[in-house]
Amino acid sequence: MGQGDHNPPPHPAGQADGAMGIHIRGIRKRFHRFPALNGVGLDIRPGELLALLGPSGSGKTTLLRVIAGLEFPEEGQVVFGDQDVTYASAAARGVGFVFQQYALFKHMTVARNITFGLDVKKRKHRPSKEAREARVEELLKLVELEGLGKRFPTQLSGGQRQRVALARALAVSPKVLLLDEPFGALDATVRKSLRRELRRIHDATGVTTIFVTHDQEEALELADRVAVLNKGQIEQIGAPHEIHDQPASAFVAGFVGEANRLEGEVKAGVFHAAGVALPAKDVAAGPAVAFVRPHQMVLAAKGQVAIEAKLERKVLNGPVGRLEALLARDQVLAAGEPGATVHLAVQDGYVFAKD
Ligand code: ATP
Repeated sequence: MGQGDHNPPPHPAGQADGAMGIHIRGIRKRFHRFPALNGVGLDIRPGELLALLGPSGSGKTTLLRVIAGLEFPEEGQVVFGDQDVTYASAAARGVGFVFQQYALFKHMTVARNITFGLDVKKRKHRPSKEAREARVEELLKLVELEGLGKRFPTQLSGGQRQRVALARALAVSPKVLLLDEPFGALDATVRKSLRRELRRIHDATGVTTIFVTHDQEEALELADRVAVLNKGQIEQIGAPHEIHDQPASAFVAGFVGEANRLEGEVKAGVFHAAGVALPAKDVAAGPAVAFVRPHQMVLAAKGQVAIEAKLERKVLNGPVGRLEALLARDQVLAAGEPGATVHLAVQDGYVFAKD
């Protein structure tokens, strides 16, 4: 699946009202004085799959819960379409959830789990039994669990249970689908395949989806756009390639993708560290840090400005070989034979003034 631009898909699995945009404005939320969200603003496009990415404690879950109506902010607004829902209940917002822990009802079959949200609707809003049964079949097909409707959750694998959770969240045709580390408890292989499934299901339903993860690979692979959170604030929002290739802050440069952090100084628009000179025309003069991706560094030619490093390890397990070396100051460089001295020319990098 490509990153970034996904064409608006047809919606055979049926979102009656069309996709909805969400606008988050100036959200502040404290827990006992601790600012979990510190002025968060975010526009989520109709039908978009947005990943909220950030380290543990950065406020991802809190933001998702504020969007869901499970938590209420002290300041700011949550707008669904053109409706202010900041203080509306979760039920009134029409959101579907999937959490990391399988919150399936163990004593109910897969089919009953999926229709639960429809079964408990008031009679006048409840679809007929036939319509509900048809919906289960449609959703089982969508999440590729056809024929498993009569099983109980304990008779399913972890990945299958999360598919059921997803089908259940979609059963009520939510306007917004919210997922909090839905694959967090699964092993790497299942996780990867479910990631693709989620993308496919998203494209089939067209429902605006917000996905919380601390796994950058997951965010970059799956999402149309990624919002990077740090300490209760959004550091950057953009397409995966923008976040990776044009980090807006030192935090994003260090958190997303692999990078070697070099300390130095900016003088007259150039970043200098031992053996490194990089253009940094927009960075104020003074102490600075450069983040250098492995591919931005090459083995130096004779006479080229370079840093000296000791080769630690060669990793040759794919089409691209990789050398890992240690800098004099113990900064690991992702760029001979182990033990050899190598010279590395830093060709490019991201430079930020030091706070
Ligand atoms: P993780 O990836 O570890 O789940 P997160 O980015 O989702 O982290 P949140 O769960 O949103 O982070 O928490 C943000 C901050 O708010 C954390 O410091 C957390 O300890 C605090 N926090 C969250 N919920 C509560 C609560 N109910 N009471 C007190 N503090 C809370």
